Amino acid sequence: MSTNASAGPTVGDVGEFALIDTILAAAPAPSPNVVVGPGDDSAVFAVPMGSVTCSTDAMVEGVHFKRDWSSANDIGRKAAAVNIADIEAMGATPRGLLIALCAPPELPVGWVEEFRDGVLAECATASVELLGGDTSASPVLTIVVTAMGDLEGREPITRAGARPGQHVAMMGRLGWAAAGLRTLSRGFRSPRVVVDAQRCPEVPYGFGRRASEGGATSMIDVSDGLLADLGHIAAASGVSIDITSASLEIAEPLRAVAAATGGDPLHLVLAGGEDHALVGTFDTVPDGWVAIGTVAEPGAAGVSVTVDGAVPEITGGHDHFAKPPRSSR
Ligand SMILES: [Mg+2]
Repeated sequence: MSTNASAGPTVGDVGEFALIDTILAAAPAPSPNVVVGPGDDSAVFAVPMGSVTCSTDAMVEGVHFKRDWSSANDIGRKAAAVNIADIEAMGATPRGLLIALCAPPELPVGWVEEFRDGVLAECATASVELLGGDTSASPVLTIVVTAMGDLEGREPITRAGARPGQHVAMMGRLGWAAAGLRTLSRGFRSPRVVVDAQRCPEVPYGFGRRASEGGATSMIDVSDGLLADLGHIAAASGVSIDITSASLEIAEPLRAVAAATGGDPLHLVLAGGEDHALVGTFDTVPDGWVAIGTVAEPGAAGVSVTVDGAVPEITGGHDHFAKPPRSSR
């Protein structure tokens, strides 16, 4: 974290309009797709082929992020990334972002500048434009991001399109952010790669569109954990899903965290949230995607998600991993 983020004038010192100017000053010039950019009552962007998909998320300090765990830059990147991932999950091309920043007056402007740089960096990675937003005073630092995407003439890929006989396939990483959360919550800062994954996910940008073009019939981004999110697809589609555990990669840093803190590293992959991998169902698994399971008719117990044919003992998100640390590393 730079000293900039905690020193200098505060949000209260400069006021709303100067704060907005600070944010927009660093944004790149709008692309030709932007008909009306930031500064008017509402932004306008062109979607020649038809439909726009939209999603919004609120991030509240102390609930969704901590300023002592994450830099302003990380928080900005994550705020953008988690919203853009929802657009990817519909099979759309992410195009624009709106941000409402509700900040305590004593927040340094330097923090907002670092946050802005994080947002813009993630937008650049995802080829998304900052279209506008709002600022307000608030007793609790709160960030609300709305993302919009262009379906470019394709049908949206919802959670309801999984069909018996299909493959379940994924693109991205699983378990990394949960391993990072477990690391941070025990007061450790390493393995650095999982801590970084907790601070901001590596979203597989562009693969939502490619999944749609590759025949995905249902899709979701893994925010709550693979089992929980596949449960949403199973419920919406009226199917059962079985995961083959041997197909899931358990990366070395996840094994290291599990070894240091207890528990099965596979559980991080099955139930850890916040990595925003894309998981979909396909008749034929596209190149580069990892086949991790199959879709079947609902069983006697109704729709369900099983692992290697059995109901898994773990069902929830990362909080279920909470165990006393076994290491004082
Ligand atoms: Mg989602």
